[in-house]
Amino acid sequence: MADINNISLNTATTKLKWSLSQAIDGCARHEIAGISPWRDQIQEMGLHAAAKHIRDAGLRVSGVCRGGMFTLPHGHDRQAMLDDNKRAVDEAAELNADCLVLVVGGIPDGGATLADAHTQVSDAIAELLPYARSANVPLAIEPLHPMYAADRACVNSIAHANDLCDELDDGLGIAVDVYHLWWDHNLKAEIARAGKERILAFHICDWLKVTSDMLLDRGMMGDGVIDIPLVRSWVEEQGFDGLYEVEIFSQDNWWQRDPDDVLSIIKQRVAEAV
Ligand code: ZN
Repeated sequence: MADINNISLNTATTKLKWSLSQAIDGCARHEIAGISPWRDQIQEMGLHAAAKHIRDAGLRVSGVCRGGMFTLPHGHDRQAMLDDNKRAVDEAAELNADCLVLVVGGIPDGGATLADAHTQVSDAIAELLPYARSANVPLAIEPLHPMYAADRACVNSIAHANDLCDELDDGLGIAVDVYHLWWDHNLKAEIARAGKERILAFHICDWLKVTSDMLLDRGMMGDGVIDIPLVRSWVEEQGFDGLYEVEIFSQDNWWQRDPDDVLSIIKQRVAEAV
């Protein structure tokens, strides 16, 4: 089973009740090795204060969430979007993060097609990459489940993410999130195709067979249908040695609980079901 010393807390999991500062302290208290903060929480705390607090707590930063949202309607300020992504790279650099996670954006309003969106994504990543390379921040495309293709991310399989990595080359990799990718019958082969170099993050939670919300009803590991140990074994066969980042959006269940209890249960579930 999985090593409980390799857990990272994605702060979305506790964001309803804990500020970033509280989440950092919570990780230290529960001996959780890493953290993956969201940008709104970083900005709320202040970048330098966040970086110092995370360093002082001895936490590894498994990622920063998130850059991306590259797809824009006609006439929208593309430069502002690129500038904001550069700021996200700067924040990830200051936090010494393993990667900046990219959620690439869906279909822009105003009649754009899926193919248009794909072109916008690869063009924007191509423009952002030199900046990220010079800052030493790997960019991790996070393919999202196809149910989000229209409104959140038009890269929906690890195969597509691998194609983009082939096209755009160095400095670009993939965030493998079991919630988004578990259904793919080619997952093992595409994880092998990605290899150690490209697997920049490993996100875990579970897929509840009966779900009340497409975005905000993710399950705790062990409560759903994903064979997480199997996917973890595929990722680790490639030499992935990063943290298991626990990312649970759960408005009506886990977000309502005392985050200290949630962290205790996460450790227990990583030992039993990851
Ligand atoms: Zn994720």
